[in-house]
Amino acid sequence: MTITSKLFNVVYKEGRKNLLENEAKTVCLEYGIPVTKFELAKNEVEAVKFAEKIGYPVVLKIVSPDILHKSDVGGVIVNLKDAKEVRNAYKQIQQNVKKHKAKAKITGILVQEMAPLSTEVIVGAIKDSQFGPSIMFGLGGIFVEVLKDVTFRVAPITEDEAREMITEVKAYPLLKGYRNQPPADIDAIVKILLNTSKLVMEHQEIKELDLNPIMVYEKGAKTVDARIILE
Ligand code: ADP
Ligand code: MG
Repeated sequence: MTITSKLFNVVYKEGRKNLLENEAKTVCLEYGIPVTKFELAKNEVEAVKFAEKIGYPVVLKIVSPDILHKSDVGGVIVNLKDAKEVRNAYKQIQQNVKKHKAKAKITGILVQEMAPLSTEVIVGAIKDSQFGPSIMFGLGGIFVEVLKDVTFRVAPITEDEAREMITEVKAYPLLKGYRNQPPADIDAIVKILLNTSKLVMEHQEIKELDLNPIMVYEKGAKTVDARIILE
């Protein structure tokens, strides 16, 4: 059995439908979707150990089956530069979560590599009752949230379709590079779209998938947050 199938079994057995971020990123890794390096810490000492292993700066995030939107509860603290900042952020996140959602079960705190800021894109998948799994693409932030500048294709998608998706959003010129902004690695996005398509085709139990955001660089790309919801 694959890592992904085993993981989904565990999630179902625990009566859950939402994968934790570390679980969703483990699935991504099996399907060749690049993600920020991560380790799940159960206490402050572990958090510092993992931060040193990953290398500063790091990001700390709440991991809880009861929290889907982590920053809404003060559960994400970025750009931590040393052990002291990691320890403080660890305590701060626990306090924030207690204040916003006292009953939330805390699985741990995810320590992860801080991805340098860059152009953000979003790759998503939803299972349509009529067409089955469909793949979504757009640029991050206001482009998706305000302008709804997104595009969809029914899975499985071909490489040509993946390239079409990228070039047909209105914000595409931002990926081609402008002023002193270098062009983004389009091939890296194509690969993520194709691998996402493969993942949702092989796992029809995925109801929703959200890679939001993905930082795209001149060379390569990195998924910063991943969400997977099962049927
Ligand atoms: P939420 O559950 O609220 O969507 P995210 O994991 O997306 O939480 O974190 C919120 C924001 O924090 C992201 O949109 C991104 O801007 C920033 N962020 C999170 N993780 C990282 C990271 N590893 N590197 C850089 N920025 C990050
Ligand atoms: Mg997010």
